[in-house]
Amino acid sequence: MDFIDLRSDTVTRPSPGMRKAIYEAEVGDVQYGDDPSVNRLEGRIAELLGKEDALWFPSGTQANQAALLTLTRPGDDVIVSEESHAVWHEAGGGGANAGVQFTVAGRNGLFTADDMIAAVKPRSNNLYAPTTLVEIENTQNRMGGLVFPQDDIVRICAAARARDLATFLDGARLWNASAATGLSVAELAQPFDLTMVAMSKGLGAPGGSLLAGSRDLIAAAVRFRRRLGGAMRQVGFFAAAADYALDHNLARLADDHVSARMLGQMLSQSSRIRLVAEPQTNIIVFDLVGDAPNGQSVAQQARERGVLVSVFGPNKLRAVTHLDTPFEACERAGRILLDVIGG
Ligand SMILES: *Cc1c(COP(=O)(O)O)cnc(C)c1O
Repeated sequence: MDFIDLRSDTVTRPSPGMRKAIYEAEVGDVQYGDDPSVNRLEGRIAELLGKEDALWFPSGTQANQAALLTLTRPGDDVIVSEESHAVWHEAGGGGANAGVQFTVAGRNGLFTADDMIAAVKPRSNNLYAPTTLVEIENTQNRMGGLVFPQDDIVRICAAARARDLATFLDGARLWNASAATGLSVAELAQPFDLTMVAMSKGLGAPGGSLLAGSRDLIAAAVRFRRRLGGAMRQVGFFAAAADYALDHNLARLADDHVSARMLGQMLSQSSRIRLVAEPQTNIIVFDLVGDAPNGQSVAQQARERGVLVSVFGPNKLRAVTHLDTPFEACERAGRILLDVIGG
């Protein structure tokens, strides 16, 4: 069966054009610094994000872990939002790799400068795990692809700097935040010491995320990448795909947002569905309420009818629109989900 696969925007397959770019990629050995395609991509991302330097990683999770290792010490406290990727989706890496603990600020995936200030554990109190880093996720995955308001980000990062706290942007889907707000990714990344962006989500490349920041911080991150096992060799094949994605798939992200808004509106017709937030980008997270079947059962019945969604909790599902789910496919998926859930 040809599935309409809404589990994630990571499920896209390389297009013929992208496969050709991969086939023709010039490659070298990254550990000797002579893979031209990787060097070019790192330069391009640094420039796009308005940072001095950038570094390729196999995955966003690994780049996030390297950022924690670069900006904190074991025993430190890191402020994050509710439902953050750092706490839910990195297999305990913050504790296991960097030895940090997390404190949640604010509610529903967002927080303000006041929320942050209230959550900071000052270094001056030796009972506390000192807060040394503030991490912001934009867009916010588990709360339905929310865009973190940029004026809050500017205030949070200024308050962090005034307290000598480092700042990190988990921007796996920063491209979507840019498409939704009209702000450039450089503007969105400007307040942060380090920024991660993923090439493997909405952009549709088969893998790779980059960390961008000052020359010094990126130099430090190189060692942590190796320590985490991410020191790969002929990475130019991935870099060529990422380059192709920036050329061909960036401008169309807004289409995914249109599809997600439409799908969100369709699902809202059921009294058994409650969206956690109005879709602003390409993610719809919704709760099954009232007499609705549970999440597993809806996902299974939808699968039998050709639609794949992610189970995010006993009564919580996620659907993500992307390159391989055109508007009409999303409409069809919406009808099937409504049929399965009822109400
Ligand atoms: C996907 C994602 C990452 C990184 O994920 P990988 O699958 O390891 O590349 C990081 N942060 C957020 C918010 C994400 O959605």
